Amino acid sequence: MQTERFYQQRLDEWVEESRKEAYKGRVAEYIPGLAAAPQHALGISLWGTDGQFFQSGDTDLHFTMQSISKVFSLLLALMDSGEKEVFQKVGMEPTGDDFNSILKLELVDPGKPFNPFINAGAIVIASLIQGEGPDEKSERLLQFIRHLAHDNRLDYNEAVYESERETAHRNRSIAYYLKDNGVLEDDVEETLEVYFRQCSIVVNCKQLAHMALVLASDGVDPVTKQQVIPRRYIQIAKSFMVTCGMYNASGEFAIEVGLPAKSGVSGGILSVVPGKWGIGIIGPALNSKGNSVAGVQLLRSLSKDWDWSIF
Ligand code: GLU
Repeated sequence: MQTERFYQQRLDEWVEESRKEAYKGRVAEYIPGLAAAPQHALGISLWGTDGQFFQSGDTDLHFTMQSISKVFSLLLALMDSGEKEVFQKVGMEPTGDDFNSILKLELVDPGKPFNPFINAGAIVIASLIQGEGPDEKSERLLQFIRHLAHDNRLDYNEAVYESERETAHRNRSIAYYLKDNGVLEDDVEETLEVYFRQCSIVVNCKQLAHMALVLASDGVDPVTKQQVIPRRYIQIAKSFMVTCGMYNASGEFAIEVGLPAKSGVSGGILSVVPGKWGIGIIGPALNSKGNSVAGVQLLRSLSKDWDWSIF
């Protein structure tokens, strides 16, 4: 039986080894508020379902959730609107295209986004969260995420929110297209407000790992032991994480790492070792597919070393 010290040492070694990969990537600049992130940072936190906790590297870094928030908006929309309504509006298939692609919206079932993790799908999902207007919807999603992170201090990064809102011409055009097709029923600008807000929620690795822990525990809150998310919806979320969570590198990630995961353009990755670990990672330098270069390398090493692949 390995000691905690052994695991900590291995983790520290893998972090320092993987950090070298960061120079191969670039920090996202298309949202001006993201461009200042430290290129060579790499941090990881792990919460175990048995209460163990490890972390290593730049875990003090705060970053915005960006696309990682799509996992939780999907879960809340499923809890609010049910499986049937959600999948009437959004498909279940990976696209192989970029996350913000507009291309396939016109091809099949006109206007219906392929899945909830591409931007088009996530924008529709944002409209399926219950609430009087954008403020109430956003507030409900923030409270949900705070609960899962077990930290009520979680809040928005206003500068990132504003900079995305001002520069989101492509997301705006996607949303208007969805509206034109009747897939998006709510007001376009109000729906985008909910979407930009969720992307701008600030977290650190520890909070992210705690959210992942609830997924690793099949929806049971590790603190209160209550079922906070139905197991069926966790299965749905984890399936999307496997098939589309790492953008159009999800197939390679499944082979190399073999875990459900979701990344965001801020360089964050949330990953799950079902039944065992909730994982939160930050590494702002991205590869050409939009995933944290050092973060993916770290998961690849850990998964091989600690035999994590679910396949
Ligand atoms: N807010 C970003 C966007 O919509 C999220 C993208 C991402 O993290 O993949 O462009």
